[in-house]
Amino acid sequence: MPEYTARCYCGESELTIQGPPETVAYCHCSDCRRWTGAPVAAFAAFSADALIKQMPPDYAPKGPVRRWTCATCGSPLGAAFDYLPDQIYVPLGIIDQADCLTPVLHSHHAERLPWLHLADDLPRSDGTARANLKASKS
Ligand SMILES: [Zn+2]
Ligand SMILES: [Zn+2]
Repeated sequence: MPEYTARCYCGESELTIQGPPETVAYCHCSDCRRWTGAPVAAFAAFSADALIKQMPPDYAPKGPVRRWTCATCGSPLGAAFDYLPDQIYVPLGIIDQADCLTPVLHSHHAERLPWLHLADDLPRSDGTARANLKASKS
């Protein structure tokens, strides 16, 4: 069972994550862009059980979405979505082994920035891709 480690910008927040991830995906939605500050976000989804205990106690729920950030530097640490139960999505950018975590799909592709062209043949969903995200779990 692979183990992954993640660390925020300042180093105050560290995560130890049991893999393998349940899925790895790009998200082009504007919420994820604002949250990460990047033109496209990418996440690895892990089982929430062990991970949620490592998250800071406070978070800012926005509708069906919870997002955890480092209390010191504000780095994004994870997001959870009511419609994707029992999973926490960790931004690839904070995972030390991100080079081994290859995305398998694009969600919210319709919201992508028009100048962004990622040359891959991965499935592209204009919505949340929740069916695909769940289906890729097995
Ligand atoms: Zn930090
Ligand atoms: Zn998103």
